[in-house]
Amino acid sequence: MKQSMETWLPHPHSRPKLLVVDDQPINVRVLHELFREDFDVFMATSGEQAITVCQAQQPDLILLDVVMEGMDGHEVCRRLKADPATQDIPIIFITAQQQESEELLGLALGAVDFISKPINPVIVKARVRTHLTLKLQSDLLRTMALMDGLTGVANRRKFDEDISADWRVCLREQKPLSLILADVDFFKRYNDRYGHQAGDGCLRAVAQALAETVRRPYDLVARYGGEEFACVLPNTDLSGAVEIATRMQAGVRALDIEHSASDVDRVVTISLGVATLTPSADLEFQALIEAADKQLYEAKSAGRGRVCSSSMAAS
Ligand code: GH3
Ligand code: MG
Ligand code: MG
Repeated sequence: MKQSMETWLPHPHSRPKLLVVDDQPINVRVLHELFREDFDVFMATSGEQAITVCQAQQPDLILLDVVMEGMDGHEVCRRLKADPATQDIPIIFITAQQQESEELLGLALGAVDFISKPINPVIVKARVRTHLTLKLQSDLLRTMALMDGLTGVANRRKFDEDISADWRVCLREQKPLSLILADVDFFKRYNDRYGHQAGDGCLRAVAQALAETVRRPYDLVARYGGEEFACVLPNTDLSGAVEIATRMQAGVRALDIEHSASDVDRVVTISLGVATLTPSADLEFQALIEAADKQLYEAKSAGRGRVCSSSMAAS
């Protein structure tokens, strides 16, 4: 799951990942020894291997030897910076070359720092600590920029990014893309009856219940606006999406949050609209949002507290 705050933040017990690249195994071993207590240290003894490890492990920082047999450090750096999946990983070059031109080239290629051999353990440790702190802070900022502050699920910006990306992937692969729009029933009355603070708490609980319903890594639950949530389900057909919407409906009722001002039930309920489209070149993803919104409107007018989808009327 990528939508709940806990899974977005770095795991409290997980250690930062450091990749050490040098074609001399003895140098790799020295650095490994230096950092193994505080980091998960990955090792590579060639440029090709370094790139493979980066793609598989997404290290937080790379210590990269410049002069290597085969693909040298500069070329490794160029390739990592050219790939969106690896371009944000900071690189520190380590080299025996002392010329300024060498350092300038490394920095021009996008390295964050430059350390000369033979290495001084205190200096290497200090620089690694500095750059790692910056990296983890920028990861956190990026995560927070895409997270809804009240509920901890993804925000509207993340939703916009994901649905357009998922639309393109499903267009290319000709797979169905499903969207669920969920809206809390009589929420204005809830605020009026229990107060805005309690309303906020209710939204948090509802968001958590929705997030717990989806399981696959590419499914997204986002706060779409006010008391409305959206769930984007790539490669999911209508019956699969209706099943999830039905579980969401049940999950929110199971929270058992008293709502004595609701006409639907004695507890907080949601209405859900579900739509599925297999993208085609003559359609935009907005068509999917419109279709789900229409179903949500149907669910509201049919009495709320239910699921409506494009081909079946209720649940
Ligand atoms: P319906 O069943 O038709 O959806 O009725 P409703 O009252 O839920 O819908 P309406 O759109 O009339 O009211 C939505 C309410 O949600 C009004 C607004 O004050 C409240 N709301 C929106 N965002 C927040 C929020 O962040 N916190 C709280 N406490 N309330 C919010
Ligand atoms: Mg509402
Ligand atoms: Mg609303």
